[in-house]
Amino acid sequence: MHYFSYRDARLHAEDVDLDSLAAKVGTPFYCYSSATLERHYKVFTDAFAGREMLLCYALKANSNQSVIATLARLGAGADIVSGGELERALAAGIPGERIVFSGVGKTRAEMAEALKAGILCFNVESEAELAALSEVAIGLGRRAPVSIRVNPDVDAKTHQKISTGRSATKFGIPISRARQVYAEAARLPGIAITGVDMHIGSQITDMAPFENAVALLAELARDLMAAGHKLKHMDLGGGLGVPYAASDPVPPEPEVYARVVEEALGGLDLPLVFEMGRMIVANAGILVTRVLYVKQGEGKTFVIVDAAMNDLIRPTLYEAHHDIVPVAEPRPEAALKVVDVVGPVCETGDFLALDRPLPEVKAGDLLAVMTAGAYGAVQAGVYNTRPLVPEVLVKEATAVVVRPRIPAQELIARDRLAPWL
Ligand SMILES: *Cc1c(COP(=O)(O)O)cnc(C)c1O
Repeated sequence: MHYFSYRDARLHAEDVDLDSLAAKVGTPFYCYSSATLERHYKVFTDAFAGREMLLCYALKANSNQSVIATLARLGAGADIVSGGELERALAAGIPGERIVFSGVGKTRAEMAEALKAGILCFNVESEAELAALSEVAIGLGRRAPVSIRVNPDVDAKTHQKISTGRSATKFGIPISRARQVYAEAARLPGIAITGVDMHIGSQITDMAPFENAVALLAELARDLMAAGHKLKHMDLGGGLGVPYAASDPVPPEPEVYARVVEEALGGLDLPLVFEMGRMIVANAGILVTRVLYVKQGEGKTFVIVDAAMNDLIRPTLYEAHHDIVPVAEPRPEAALKVVDVVGPVCETGDFLALDRPLPEVKAGDLLAVMTAGAYGAVQAGVYNTRPLVPEVLVKEATAVVVRPRIPAQELIARDRLAPWL
């Protein structure tokens, strides 16, 4: 469910006409809908009404300050994976006590900053990290609140680059060793055990492996409490999928997801933490791009647009599908033509869609790449010295540039000429 729709034959973001917006901002640009962000946050948290829970938005999905602040105002916490994201979360108004810190490679400097900010929990991924964290905490005269990220060795049945719950990935501590590691952690003077944690992967649509993993984590939590550990929460990670293509497996509705969680917990009554990223922001964002040329290749038609892999790398990196629609509403009887939608970057891998049936388009037309709010702008770069793509946030009839385009001149000015040149 999102708030991008045709009105008067033109695609709108809420009440904003994307044709006029493109004329003002220039293309390409990302456009986010506040109403969609808010809706997704509410649908998820409402599904757990009656349960103590905290939705820690996974900043890495989309870390624009206005996006984070929109969610912060609704009460969201943050799931961070770097010191930079800690600064972003705090700057957007998310208090330390609503922040969890994930990731396999936290530096000691990052640990210290997070301790000073009084974060809710470190999700620790190795014994070496546990030892380092204990030392840093002692140095600051504190105890670090910790969950061990457990790897339940389930296959989330998603794309291999975003599947994290199998034993062969770098993430977490095998569940078979978790009890022993918790016992060791309890003996470390700088550590205070506060919870258990997992995150089995992203774009989960099949509930069976997730349900399995939750049940294993619940069993672990019961054992740990029986062994005297004082658990204050259970973090079930993020990963709930979103529909990218009509032919994709349909991800469960949040209510279904919540029911699965409750059943797998089997009456275990611990406050829950979730680390959703994609399901909050993916549908809330689109990438608007203009057609530069239509090129007839041998047996193929290329629609060359002004957005490229440096602006949206998901098709190249994950073979991801994004629906692409013209901003000018096509006539219902418009014939479809199979095309490749490609960018100007000098790489064969630079494409937004391959073999895609699209209504006929011509140079100057605007296209909207849908479901681009998650893992889009955050992975954008300036390869080929292309200006960094801007981001626009819409609320009803108002559109605000929340990150301006960074032009080539600014990029060049950041370089320094060596003194002998
Ligand atoms: C990436 C990540 C998330 C968010 O995943 P989504 O699929 O965007 O919900 C949550 N937790 C951890 C530890 C992550 O690495």
